[in-house]
Amino acid sequence: MFLFCLIVAATVIGVPLFGYLYGYSRLDWTMFGLLYVVTGLGITVGYHRLISHRSFACPGWVKAVLLIAGGWALQNSALKWGADHIRHHAACDQEADPYNATRGFWYSHCGWLLVGQRYTDEKYAVRLRQDPIVMWQHRYYVPIVLSGLALPFLAGLLYGGWRGGLSCFMLAGIGRTFAVLNSTFCINSICHIWGRQPHSQTDSSRDSWLVSLLTFGEGYHNYHHTYPSDYRNGPRWYNFDPSKWLIATLSFLGLAWSLRTAGDPTAKGSGLRTVSGG
Ligand SMILES: [Zn+2]
Ligand SMILES: [Zn+2]
Repeated sequence: MFLFCLIVAATVIGVPLFGYLYGYSRLDWTMFGLLYVVTGLGITVGYHRLISHRSFACPGWVKAVLLIAGGWALQNSALKWGADHIRHHAACDQEADPYNATRGFWYSHCGWLLVGQRYTDEKYAVRLRQDPIVMWQHRYYVPIVLSGLALPFLAGLLYGGWRGGLSCFMLAGIGRTFAVLNSTFCINSICHIWGRQPHSQTDSSRDSWLVSLLTFGEGYHNYHHTYPSDYRNGPRWYNFDPSKWLIATLSFLGLAWSLRTAGDPTAKGSGLRTVSGG
């Protein structure tokens, strides 16, 4: 929570001020874009679809890479993130929902971070604790976070000395963390308030293709709440879902299997089935 406030303050004041005084180089912007994609996919493919929902299986080293990339997003360890997220699905729109959207936009966006988690329940973490790679990532979460912040600093340092390092750290370290945090928050806030509900109306989840553009496909949230174990959030070929494309590519390369789908996306209530992962 303290770290979140620090990142917000540094982004709102420090990042624009530094840019105004010294400007940002092409490397800073490239690293910003690169780390936005890598850490964003670490959350959506690693933390969300792999760990929280087991929507596919993969070799241990691929899981470790995804969890390191997700850890660089500074959204807590996969163990804590996954337990919160499983609780979100189990108690959606209720008191125990960590990002309960019935409490308004700002609460579900980031306000929930500022209040104590009264409903934390160990039962949502039991399954996750059995995964040695999840526990490894949890144990080494702080060094993983620090390595993610050191990366843009070192790239900038090699490119432009100390000022280059600081400049790249500000934009691709601090600014990028703020951007990815907010893109994730949009799923909990916007995708539970505005948008269509073509698949189910049993909870407040909604589909927003616009949010999908920022979140690597996670904006099709009504579909996701209806079929949470599906490796796709946007089931149709034209849905913008880069997380689905990454999982399908891994499967094509033999690096992912047991991809779960809900079959025909228009067939409501169809049970999940497993397709061979190529
Ligand atoms: Zn949701
Ligand atoms: Zn989910």
